[in-house]
Amino acid sequence: LMHLTKKLIEIRTMLLSIDQSDALKLPSIVVIGSQSSGKSSVLEAIVGHEFLPKGNNMVTRRPIELTLIHSPPKGGKGGEEYGEFPGLGLGKITDFAAIQKTLTDLNLAVPSSQAVSNDPIDLRIYSPNVPDLTLIDLPGYVQISSLDQPETLKEQITSLCEKYIREPNIILAVCAADVDLANSPALRASRKVDPLGLRTIGVITKMDLVPAQQGASILAGNRYPLHLGYVGVVAKASGKKQRDSTALTVQKGEHEYFSTNKEHFGPSSHLMVGTDTLRKRLMEVLESSMASSLHGITNAVQLELEEATYQFKVQYNDRRVTPESYVAETMDALKHRFKEQLPQFRRPIIREKLKLMLDDKVMDVLEQLYWLDKRAPELGQLAVDSKVKSADDVDPYWRHKLDAASSLLTKSGVGRDSTMLVADGLRALIDSIALNEPFTYHETASERLIQFSHAILRDRIGVASDQVENCIKPYKYEVEVEEKEWSKGRERAIDLFENEVVMCETKLKEIRKKVGGSRRLKGLVGYVKTLEERERDRRARRMANPEAKYEGEPPEEETPESYRYPPAQILDGRHAMLYTDRLATLRLRLTALRSKRCKSGPENDIFCPEVFLNVVADKLAYTSAMFLNIELLDQFFYQFPREIDSRLLYDLDRSEIVAFARENPALRKHLDLQERKEKLEEVMKQLNSLSTLRSDPKPQTRRP
Ligand code: GDP
Repeated sequence: LMHLTKKLIEIRTMLLSIDQSDALKLPSIVVIGSQSSGKSSVLEAIVGHEFLPKGNNMVTRRPIELTLIHSPPKGGKGGEEYGEFPGLGLGKITDFAAIQKTLTDLNLAVPSSQAVSNDPIDLRIYSPNVPDLTLIDLPGYVQISSLDQPETLKEQITSLCEKYIREPNIILAVCAADVDLANSPALRASRKVDPLGLRTIGVITKMDLVPAQQGASILAGNRYPLHLGYVGVVAKASGKKQRDSTALTVQKGEHEYFSTNKEHFGPSSHLMVGTDTLRKRLMEVLESSMASSLHGITNAVQLELEEATYQFKVQYNDRRVTPESYVAETMDALKHRFKEQLPQFRRPIIREKLKLMLDDKVMDVLEQLYWLDKRAPELGQLAVDSKVKSADDVDPYWRHKLDAASSLLTKSGVGRDSTMLVADGLRALIDSIALNEPFTYHETASERLIQFSHAILRDRIGVASDQVENCIKPYKYEVEVEEKEWSKGRERAIDLFENEVVMCETKLKEIRKKVGGSRRLKGLVGYVKTLEERERDRRARRMANPEAKYEGEPPEEETPESYRYPPAQILDGRHAMLYTDRLATLRLRLTALRSKRCKSGPENDIFCPEVFLNVVADKLAYTSAMFLNIELLDQFFYQFPREIDSRLLYDLDRSEIVAFARENPALRKHLDLQERKEKLEEVMKQLNSLSTLRSDPKPQTRRP
């Protein structure tokens, strides 16, 4: 039958881990008593070690759930004595002074302003000398609270005790023999919830402090009868040397006391005395109480299990998950999502993107070197001038211009810019993966993902950009253009310009609409022009006579126009002028591009710098794309999945894997239900195995 209690204690612990509701609770023994009643001494006598916090300032501030596990020596090996705090992960503690220290620290960690915490400390003690028992040590009832304790302390302790002394728990009411039982807060509390004393055991401590006859009469329990009776103990060493109160001396003292007073406490008295008797009594009571709870608890567990099984079926179709499988799936999905996006990094597409970037550069170069040049219109004329036979007839100025433009383009940092363009694309892709489900739940992993992929890129960018720059180097000196390239380049340049025309026209239309029609826009532009002229004059005057700077300046004239056009519209007016100028240039250049001369071939490059630069840009894009592919993309695609494995997958230990999986709320719910169901199944299995083992619970009677 010893086996039964042990099993039931295991089951109780499992049930506690499933949920804290009263429905699934097997009884435990709850120890209550006022401060200094000798509560700690009794518990230590039962365990046979000093391990509870000592001190005069209310040392027990949290409930201690004490599970004693009888572990007899096996196979010649002496049964070890040690404690364990399952919640703390400190491992086996064989030194009971260290257990005492840990308990003291845990208690003192509760701020004294709060005084009492409901959060229990879980402590298990394994020993060949302890019975299988579960005991809950609660803060002692205080009589007078000291100044630094909150006023509500008394009530806090009372309500904490009330929570624990509920059914089905057994109450161990500790009272000192030298204090009138009428004043025992423990008995008073127990009587409230268990008026007949059916589940209350009285422990009378300090038997040595009252005359034996008086002690015996207390134990007889005639004044305050308890169904389960009273046990008298002397839980203190009788010797003078108090400090040396080892378990053995305590027991010796107790034994001595009761045998010297044999006439009162001997077998014929039928009184229960001594720590050994108390231990046995507790085992009996706990066992029979657990046994009688068994039926009810089995039913309750069965119901919970049915519910959990049903929910698991309905919600998850019985699909089992593990944190490991979730992590693996998440990483696979991550790699997959990345792979899905790879086509956007294929070479033709990269080349296309680089070309767009270079087109912008070409436009900038054209603007800088040609369109801002006052002689620009000349070039347009030359292209259609029939007197000009070949490029050699033209002012060398235009040859220089073209060389300068080509050089500006090839030396504009294409290596760096194209590398950055591709790297930014990769970065944006990673970021979008890392910031979307399921990584929204996994902040740390998401940060890590971003961090290491950016690191790979950072490592590659320098090399890649140098390589690209190196490979386009020849174009900085000479670009050979073939007929075919030329005609294609011309088509592209025309397309580009036509698009630009459309863009400018659209913008102009928008502005026209915004300011209120073309007539109004004309007026506005006229006004802006006069403003600009005025500004130019003013600047000229200032340059001519810097001394007179601001003094002689006439104040801004308030013309009727300045009322008509608010500042925002003036800005629109300036933009409209820019677009109009740009349109004029574009149209002129389009005419040139469509001219026979431009059509005829690369030998006429100086007349059509747009075509030439377009061909150069195309060559640059082609070369850059090729080397970026080798130096950046291939490297990244090789490294990235491997880094996922090594930094996100293999790097995690079991607890991190669980933590990761549980970050996802849907999975957490799934795991919780699954775990609950499995634990209930396990408990149910254990309970069923017990019922075959169990004899009918014997009626709980007072001994004998
Ligand atoms: P707690 O506050 O209820 O835990 O009480 P303790 O176990 O700390 O005991 C309070 C005081 O009573 C301590 O000084 C103990 O040494 C003393 N004490 C405990 N049990 C006995 C006993 O059986 N006989 C005597 N004489 N003193 C005891």
